[in-house]
Amino acid sequence: MSLNKSTGNMYEFVTHTWNTIKGKCPHGCLYCYVKRWGKQPELHFEERELKTDLGSGNTIFVGSSCDMFADVIPVEWVIKTLLHCEKFDNTYFFQTKNPKGYFEYGAHIAALNKFALCITLETNRWYEEIMNNSPKPIHKVFEFSHIPIKEKFITIEPIMNFDLSELVDIIEICNPLQVNIGADSGRNNLPEPSKEKVLELISELEKFTIVHQKSNLKRILK
Ligand code: SF4
Repeated sequence: MSLNKSTGNMYEFVTHTWNTIKGKCPHGCLYCYVKRWGKQPELHFEERELKTDLGSGNTIFVGSSCDMFADVIPVEWVIKTLLHCEKFDNTYFFQTKNPKGYFEYGAHIAALNKFALCITLETNRWYEEIMNNSPKPIHKVFEFSHIPIKEKFITIEPIMNFDLSELVDIIEICNPLQVNIGADSGRNNLPEPSKEKVLELISELEKFTIVHQKSNLKRILK
């Protein structure tokens, strides 16, 4: 197996993606981009990915197609993945909707020289029919705010309608280095905020962090 070069609507600092855990993501978000690839197989661990040479000097998004820190993912799958990362000198980027996993695997993550942790927080609100099995925003924030590292990112994507002061407050307590904001790239008919509201959010966030606007946000801001 080989590393995949990062393409499409990915973060520009990410050079590659690598996935050992594949199949139906347990969170089942309504808007999941993976659904575009057709029906997904059952959740499984791709043992042959452990033969992948991860190289050096790369920034690798590990687990980009399925949330590897979801509660139901078997512990040994995650540990085997992290132990393989440890053999190579790269920066590893992890993103989850369940930051509780960052505590559970904290020792293995800390063994990697360079890494960054991210959570996806589409809004402060709970849209059950869209978010499905994902943890509630307030739970994500509670866990993430207790992680004492500098390299913390929050990605608001796909952005959904929000309560400005509440969203800004819960982001600020996490003390992220950077907040990435993106919009729905599919046609999922999500409850989106107005352009004015997004601009207000950006301006509030810029008071304490770096805000990166992903290219797909242009649709709302035009
Ligand atoms: S957590 Fe990510 S990969 Fe999993 S269903 Fe939601 S959008 Fe898809």
